[in-house]
This record gives sequence, C-alpha cells and structure tokens, in this order.
Amino acid sequence: MITQLNKLPEGILDLSADQLYTKIDNHTLIHLTGKIQRPVFISILQHGNEYTGWDALKDYLNNHQHILPRSLSILFGNIQAAKYNIRQIEGEADFNRRWPSHLNLDGPIARTMREITDIMIQRKPFASVDIHNNSGRNPHYSGINSLEPEFINLASLFSDTMIYFTSPAGIQSRAFAKFCPSVTVECGLSGTADGKEQTHTFLELLLSQSNLLKIPGILEHQKVYEIQYSIRIKEGIEFGFDQDNDLILAKDLDYLNFHQVTVGENFGKINGKLAEKQIMPFAIIDENNCEVANNYFTIKNNHIICSKSFVPAMITQNIKAIKNDCLCYIMQPINKI
Ligand SMILES: [Zn+2]
Repeated sequence: MITQLNKLPEGILDLSADQLYTKIDNHTLIHLTGKIQRPVFISILQHGNEYTGWDALKDYLNNHQHILPRSLSILFGNIQAAKYNIRQIEGEADFNRRWPSHLNLDGPIARTMREITDIMIQRKPFASVDIHNNSGRNPHYSGINSLEPEFINLASLFSDTMIYFTSPAGIQSRAFAKFCPSVTVECGLSGTADGKEQTHTFLELLLSQSNLLKIPGILEHQKVYEIQYSIRIKEGIEFGFDQDNDLILAKDLDYLNFHQVTVGENFGKINGKLAEKQIMPFAIIDENNCEVANNYFTIKNNHIICSKSFVPAMITQNIKAIKNDCLCYIMQPINKI
C-alpha cells in the first residue's frame, strides 16, 4: 500500500529534492484540496536526478499557500534515488516503464503503479502532468501519446515544441491517457533556471484553466512532431569520444536537437575493424523491421556522414544513456493538425 496524505508534511517546502527522503518515501501521493474539486495529477522525480519538477512545484505551492485554484494530487516518485541525485538505484527497474500497459508487467513496482493508477481513476483528474529533465541539450518540449485536441492543447500550454510518441510501453502519461488528458514535460537539463521558470508558468496556466477544449490550440509558431525511428549503435561496438574507440562520436552533436540536420553533417569516425570492413555503426529499424541506416548515413573517408536531411531529438552525450537507450530519435513534423 502506498502512503497517501491530505496535506504537505511540515517544512517540506524548504527541502531540496535530495532532502525529501527525510519527510516522505517513494510513491507518496499527496492530495491537496483547491477551489475546484477535480484535481490535476502531477508526477515528479520518477527519475531521481530530474528535480526541476520539484523546484517548480515548490515555487507554485509557495505562491498559493492559502488556497489553490484547483485540487492537486502530487506523486513523489523515486525519492531514494533523489537522495543520491541519480536516475534510479542500481539494479532497480525504471519507474517510468512500469505503469499499466499492454505488456501486463508484474512485480512490486508495477503493482504500485497499478495501485496509484486505480486511485487516480476514482478521482477523475482534469489533467495529468509528468515532469522530467533531459540528459542532453534540447529545447523544452512536451510529449503526448494521443492527438486528441485536449492533449494537444494541454501540451501547448507548456511549450512551442510538442512530440507525439507511442513507445516505450509502461510510461505514466500513456497509462493515464486512457482516462484523462496527459502530458510529459521535458524541462531541459536539471537545475537550470529557465526550465524551472517555464514549468512554474505552465503550472500557473494549467491550474487556472476550466476547459482544455477552449484553449486556441496550435498557434502558428508551434510545432508538433512525431517520432519516426530511433538511431542506435550496433551491438558490440566500442564507442565514445576518445580516439581509441572503434566509433568516435562527434562532440556536441546535441546542438542539432530539433534542428534540420543538413546533408554532409559529420556524426563521427570509424576506426580499426569497422574501418577495415567499412561497417555502418548505426542501426535504424523501420516499421517493416528493415534496417534503413544506409538511407540516412554514408561512410566517407571513414566518417559517418548524413546523406538524408532529418530532424533529430534527444541526442545525448551521455554514453550510458546511449547504451541503455539510443543515440537519438528521428522525427517528422505532423502537418495534418
Ligand atoms: Zn525522466
């Protein structure tokens, strides 16, 4: 059973994310009553080192101490990982892959996520917001798992850049999309002032809305993208930024995030066996399960050169993140909205 509270523990608004463990535990759900009863659900710290959500929420709660415009249900995610400023405890499942999904995963974390989901279904949320940070340089963006107007309008309150995506399974925003408009917001690198400010402004805006269908929707300067493919590095290839790797990735590629990459852009260099056999180190699998990396990249003088323009997102320089997940995503703009 998770812990549910009906008020904030004394002094919690004075704590930074790494101190929260002194007052609460993982998966504490706090319900605060506001003028309008239907709550907004806010999930923070599912990844322990992504603390912009808590910083922004603290500012918001400090500004509205005597009465909230709308009720809030706040889920504190991985408080134990936050204590050490790490994404998750070694050997522990990623919390944001264990929410109810078609995979029907079991285990203690999946059961906890099911319990939280069931509690929130009863409370009929007005909207659900899951707040994260990125490990690479990205503009702040919101992610949605449905193209229904309420979802797009909710996402447009946070940023001019929106991404529609339908995988991976087991993420919070997708589980809640079944019963309320939901969004994942990505506030750039943890600890940056602009990310905190933008999230705080978003909370002010969202909590003052009475109908998500009455927002104008996508404005001219706003863009919705769809994730098409991911670019992974083939299994068994040693890669990094140092010269002794088989694949030496170009530095600072993350400045390309959300920009149109031009043909000729250099993504890195191959060495040793890869160079000898001219092996393409990237893997891009399309919807027909075909390998299409050679449609996007070519090898020229042992350099991996872009041969087809595309818009990437979430390019990271974090080697562990690339190993666990991917180098980046290829996106395409959605024009039909
Ligand atoms: Zn995250």
